[in-house]
Amino acid sequence: MKKRLVIANWKLYVESPRAAAHFVSFLRKRSRAFSGVEAVIAPSFPLIGAVSGALGSGQIKLGAQTLSSVTDPQHTGDVSAAILKHSGVSYVIVGHSERRAAGESTEMVAQQLAQALAQGLKAVLCVGEREREASGAHFSFIAGQLTSALTGVSAKQSDKLVIAYEPVWAIGKSAEDAMKPAELREMAIFIKKTLAERFERKTALKVPILYGGSVEPLNARALVTEAGVSGFLVGHASADADSFIEILKACKK
Ligand code: 13P
Repeated sequence: MKKRLVIANWKLYVESPRAAAHFVSFLRKRSRAFSGVEAVIAPSFPLIGAVSGALGSGQIKLGAQTLSSVTDPQHTGDVSAAILKHSGVSYVIVGHSERRAAGESTEMVAQQLAQALAQGLKAVLCVGEREREASGAHFSFIAGQLTSALTGVSAKQSDKLVIAYEPVWAIGKSAEDAMKPAELREMAIFIKKTLAERFERKTALKVPILYGGSVEPLNARALVTEAGVSGFLVGHASADADSFIEILKACKK
């Protein structure tokens, strides 16, 4: 079985190259505590150099929070998959709900995913409903997000694909408000079933499914063991080194 995967999505929490490098050095010193777990740090773009320098050639990987949907160089302010690749990035988050809310369309998310995979980056495709509905409409909403983003993805490329299920209603709160393991288990099974309709079953089952939404040291262990997910995409708790290490430890097998 593959290693569990935990990605720190720092969003805008970590603000300076100095704080970023300090965090990473601390994490590296403690890395034996979470051996066997794949840890990834996704800082904002200007901090990528500082994080990369502090990571060195160690076991912790570098991530990015988004990428451009275009490859044409005439796009001021964008960051392409190729630039990320040449900057040492291994993982890139695609279609985070906060990016979608800021205007990234379904088509842009599909293009970003295609660009990331074409550059050989590991692409972490985020899906998640805004609200839960008694009718169960959130299941078809998730299936729609997956299907539209995965249209151009080949079975071969799926070995670089990670799905992060992040229900928008559970983001940015505390462990008590996060999703419960039983509900998450049900959704993880549904996502696997949807992937199996897109790729063949054997291929689909290899795609890691992460959970994100108020993961904290308090709920991490129950979520990862009882819900059968492959790890987490962590927001606020990932900006505190001690909390992040506790979450990584909770993912040890
Ligand atoms: P929080 O962990 O702060 O809820 O954020 C989750 C998230 O959006 C990670 O991508």
